[in-house]
Amino acid sequence: TDFASLGLAEPLLRAIAEAGYTTPTPIQAQAIPLVLAGGDLLAAAQTGTGKTAGFTLPVLHRLAAEHTHPRAAGRPRCLILTPTRELAAQVEESVQTYGKHLPLTSMVMFGGVGINPQIAALRKRVDILVATPGRLLDHVGQKTLDLSGVEILVLDEADRMLDMGFIRDIRKVLALLPKKRQNLLFSATFSDEIRELANGLLHNPGCVEV
Ligand code: AMP
Repeated sequence: TDFASLGLAEPLLRAIAEAGYTTPTPIQAQAIPLVLAGGDLLAAAQTGTGKTAGFTLPVLHRLAAEHTHPRAAGRPRCLILTPTRELAAQVEESVQTYGKHLPLTSMVMFGGVGINPQIAALRKRVDILVATPGRLLDHVGQKTLDLSGVEILVLDEADRMLDMGFIRDIRKVLALLPKKRQNLLFSATFSDEIRELANGLLHNPGCVEV
């Protein structure tokens, strides 16, 4: 398989070629068609497998293809939750790289840094928000962030988020999202706690394992 046969749009294929990728990794070959079809996804994947492009590419494709929701300041259409600021920054960099030929905007937010620059950034249109759970809830509390327009939710490294004690924050975030949305869950390991989270979150998920 190549990336074109997975069904990705031309602006994404161009960005992929510019990144120097020629062949999808196994997780990309499995996950991309499932996500493009609009279904929920449960993915068992370690770092280094290409999982980030595995969800970023089809998410960008879907957001660029559908303009059903009004675009507004501080009201993202896709929310990507990660356990750490380092991972959040890395994921947002991937969003920028793969989305560079699409008219979509992204932003990263995490704790441990000043909140005011983030508040200023939320006054502009943000299509894709990459965030750690605690700072995300700070913004919700300050009413600088509106999660009612989220069409796609991604939990990246969900097992690490639970290990770090984020389950209550995650549940609070889930309660703020529209019911009708696409959910993608990535985890390297599957404990009972992860299975329980996945069972409550995902509807008829496609499952991929690499
Ligand atoms: P990840 O598992 O998402 O952290 O990605 C691991 C590394 O693989 C990153 O540095 C990516 O830039 C790279 N990568 C992702 N997909 C591909 C691909 N299809 N071909 C070559 N490198 C890739």
